[in-house]
Amino acid sequence: MIYILLGANLGNRVQTLNRAVDLISERVGPVLHGSSFYETAPWGVTDQPAYVNQVLAVETTFLPEEVLIQTQGIEQELGRVRLEKWGARVIDIDILFYDQLMLRTDALTIPHPLLHQRRFTLVPLAEIAPDFVHPILQKTTLELLADCEDEGEVMLVY
Ligand code: ADP
Ligand code: MG
Repeated sequence: MIYILLGANLGNRVQTLNRAVDLISERVGPVLHGSSFYETAPWGVTDQPAYVNQVLAVETTFLPEEVLIQTQGIEQELGRVRLEKWGARVIDIDILFYDQLMLRTDALTIPHPLLHQRRFTLVPLAEIAPDFVHPILQKTTLELLADCEDEGEVMLVY
């Protein structure tokens, strides 16, 4: 099982996420669970519109690098639909976990290195995978959420 974070902060954010889910199920594998949608405060660069985030659980037969190629293709395709001249992101697709795999290459780090520091990731992740154990930190996502000091707002949309 892989866990994927979707984020959108431009255009029709919910529609973009729905299209991303469809494309992921066609090109990566069946989407077994999807979290609710959450509206979340931008993290890092804070002077940009709020995001909508969702976490998916996806079954795949692809290797991690192949998953990344697929998700980057989907980002490009959805990005092209609403190209904005100012830079915020139409769609961001991050791979959070790939089973219990630990991987670090130039192109890909799994588990995603910042996931435990981000409420916008941990809240939807804990909704669909509360007991999943982080292979490096050896804590469940619920425990990671309880320990997380990020105070960014994460609001349930639906
Ligand atoms: P970010 O997600 O950090 O805001 P991007 O979406 O532009 O930025 O991704 C930058 C690069 O991060 C990608 O080109 C990809 O190779 C790399 N990357 C490393 N680990 C991961 C991961 N777990 N999931 C997605 N991309 C990753
Ligand atoms: Mg990304």
